[in-house]
Amino acid sequence: MHHMTLAEIARGLADKKFSSVELTQALLARIAQLDPQINSFISRTEDLALSQAKAADQRRANGESGALLGAPIAHKDLFCTQGIRTSCGSKMLDNFKAPYDATVVAKLAAAGAVTLGKTNMDEFAMGSANESSWYGAVKNPWNLEHVPGGSSGGSAAAVAARLLPAATATDTGGSIRQPAAFTNLTGLKPTYGRVSRWGMIAYASSLDQGGPLARTAEDCALMLQGMAGFDPNDSTSIDEPVPDYSVGLNASLQGLRIGVPKEYFSAGLDPRIAELIHNSIKELEKLGAVIKEISLPNMQHAIPAYYVIAPAEASSNLSRFDGVRFGYRCENPENLQDLYTRSRGEGFGSEVQRRIMVGAYALSAGYYDAYYLKAQKIRRLVKNDFMNAFNEVDIILGPTTPNPAWKLGAKSSDPVAAYLEDVYTITANLAGLPGLSMPAGFVDGLPVGVQLLAPYFQEGRLLNVAHQYQLNTDWHTRTPTGF
Ligand code: GLN
Repeated sequence: MHHMTLAEIARGLADKKFSSVELTQALLARIAQLDPQINSFISRTEDLALSQAKAADQRRANGESGALLGAPIAHKDLFCTQGIRTSCGSKMLDNFKAPYDATVVAKLAAAGAVTLGKTNMDEFAMGSANESSWYGAVKNPWNLEHVPGGSSGGSAAAVAARLLPAATATDTGGSIRQPAAFTNLTGLKPTYGRVSRWGMIAYASSLDQGGPLARTAEDCALMLQGMAGFDPNDSTSIDEPVPDYSVGLNASLQGLRIGVPKEYFSAGLDPRIAELIHNSIKELEKLGAVIKEISLPNMQHAIPAYYVIAPAEASSNLSRFDGVRFGYRCENPENLQDLYTRSRGEGFGSEVQRRIMVGAYALSAGYYDAYYLKAQKIRRLVKNDFMNAFNEVDIILGPTTPNPAWKLGAKSSDPVAAYLEDVYTITANLAGLPGLSMPAGFVDGLPVGVQLLAPYFQEGRLLNVAHQYQLNTDWHTRTPTGF
């Protein structure tokens, strides 16, 4: 049962081949048996899952239908879930039970999805390796000595290990696409504003965006359908109609103009990954696409700009966790200052503290113009590069990451080495554009992703291209040994 995609599950449930309760029980047993190897869950929600599955079966018996009705999923542990721990991977929120459901959680529940649990993540979504979680590192099912990527590493590892067909995730600088690439999944970061951020614990509010991780583009379409839409509770949510993402999957790629930025193929890219990306380009050419070389001249400035803007916003967002209003409180504080200092010092891990310090520094009166304002100007240049490129091409294609998944611990002592791995993903967040990563082959037994970027609100086009590619390749069907 665990090998089925969401689309197959939907057909099986509709044809009464199995019930949601049966499927949920089977997957819960599988999680209990296999998750200790990869540590992809922070909380398991067996009781909730079984009651949601029962309710979904009842709704089907009453004549309701829907692709997600009775489908098992999990939520990254920064989506608030009412009455259930929502930890954000941090000791700070270890005992936080959210008083309400995030919009994404509520929408998926209303569509009938069954929540199996809350997935592990880098603390406050800061990281690219899922090693900064207070609940321990997540292991990559493709090689347990390697990282699964981050910060949505728990969602990615769980789906890759066939513990469930799909999960929610968030992407501030690559945290959906990069773990998708590292674990052989399809992951979609929607346009900024497409999916509500209400109830999604903020890292960097102008960059954060929720989206799905699944095995196929077809499944990402089903998940996005359940997640997207205007939300009056999120002031940056955009009031645009949500198209039917499944309908467009089968459009022909004849004449599709694909731009390949020359800057992507620089010295930093593993040549074996470059070769796989060129193979995927050839595959898309066979399907009728036309390739054009383009340039994104400001790409080289994106990492420094991002690593000013994201920590600046984080330092502000995380100020609420002070042991009084929110979060962990230290034992026996001597006075108010001691309470703040020790609660934050003990509650936050070292990477989060580093980002808060960098952000507070960049925002301080003497340095605001030199760092924060400058970074915002670069952000505009990065966006303009994309706008110019999209005058000439329909989508942009390149590698998702410069290297495959590294070994656990390999970059923990050098944060900048890890930041540099985000080179291909963070530009989409700075510009607010949608991006997708899909499986494109293997290097040393580790998965490699190809990234597609599209103009605003063209998620459907990304899913269409990825689906057509997946109809003609089988990389996405490969399963890690032992799972
Ligand atoms: N690796 C990036 C960071 O640490 C992106 C994380 C994310 O997308 N949440 O900021």
